[in-house]
Amino acid sequence: MDRLAIVVPCYNEEEVLKLASEALRGVLTHLIKKEKIAADSFILFVNDGSRDHTWELIEEEHLAYPVQVSGVNLAGNVGHQFALTAGLITAMSRSDVTISIDADLQDDVNVIEEMIDKFHEGNDIVYGVRKERKTDTFFKRTTAQAFYRLMSMMGVKTVYNHADFRLMSRRAVEQFSKYKETNLFLRGMMPLIGYQTASVYYDRKERVAGESKYPLKKMLALAFNGISSFSVKPISMILGIGLLIIIVSLLALVYALFSYITGHVVPGWTSLILSIWFLGGLQLLAIGMVGQYIGKIYIEVKQRPRYNIEKILCSVQSLETEGKPAETYGTQEKGRENQEG
Ligand code: UDP
Ligand code: MG
Repeated sequence: MDRLAIVVPCYNEEEVLKLASEALRGVLTHLIKKEKIAADSFILFVNDGSRDHTWELIEEEHLAYPVQVSGVNLAGNVGHQFALTAGLITAMSRSDVTISIDADLQDDVNVIEEMIDKFHEGNDIVYGVRKERKTDTFFKRTTAQAFYRLMSMMGVKTVYNHADFRLMSRRAVEQFSKYKETNLFLRGMMPLIGYQTASVYYDRKERVAGESKYPLKKMLALAFNGISSFSVKPISMILGIGLLIIIVSLLALVYALFSYITGHVVPGWTSLILSIWFLGGLQLLAIGMVGQYIGKIYIEVKQRPRYNIEKILCSVQSLETEGKPAETYGTQEKGRENQEG
């Protein structure tokens, strides 16, 4: 049976930690009873350098429930995306499937069962998607929608209304761990992994306690990071604007010459106005050109995996797998076949 690890990043969450632990332990017990997950499935709290008593509480929970509750203490605050990554990678070698969820219980823990069902149906990634944004303020709702629209305009594939509540199989986390980039935007990375995915839908609730650790400043930073880590379109836009201005300067040339001939101008105006338009356009064009190269360098330095093999059908055994017991080779065991890529 598959061992589940529920990964929970926590930053100053002392008000909600015990509640989260209780709710998630409840889910584990329920799923274990229904024989959907292994009996040693566990919750992994990641303390993201909290300044309150979050870590002490995690330690207490681990003492009280040594099998069901584990913890990782990060040396300092690294932010939600990194804390989550730390948790996923720690859980990777200790579990068959992971689910990431926020500590504040805004995401519905009751759909975890559905996620596990979808996993057993053969999906490697299951997205938790919010049905509506009823509990959000008007401001958060509209800014979030604008954000998803902007992302798709910039050519970044994201799942609409999906945050970081998601199930990942071990091989999906393994493939994810090959993306070594430091500018993390997990929601944009998951579609790159390319395995079979599914979604479950739920209503997002209010925080059970405490307050949001994502003020506007962090939200904007996340949005900007999402776009700049996945798209070099802004650079192409500069190039486009440069071209456009050069075309405009040609029109200005016609207009300026016409004014010059009809004699309605102050001396020197024609050459001045033409220089301004033409040089302005040329400069933007040049910046855009340089930008194209920088964009390429940027993509290269990420060293993202170029492909991800889902399955290999081949009767000739790869040299890499030789020496391993025969039953670990083949298409049966998840997480083996993609190692050959
Ligand atoms: N979080 C974290 N590090 C941070 C900020 C937030 O680990 O620097 C965690 C936080 O404890 C929570 C999750 O990320 O479990 C989401 O944060 P929050 O609920 O405050 O965001 P919101 O739901 O308001 O967008
Ligand atoms: Mg929240």
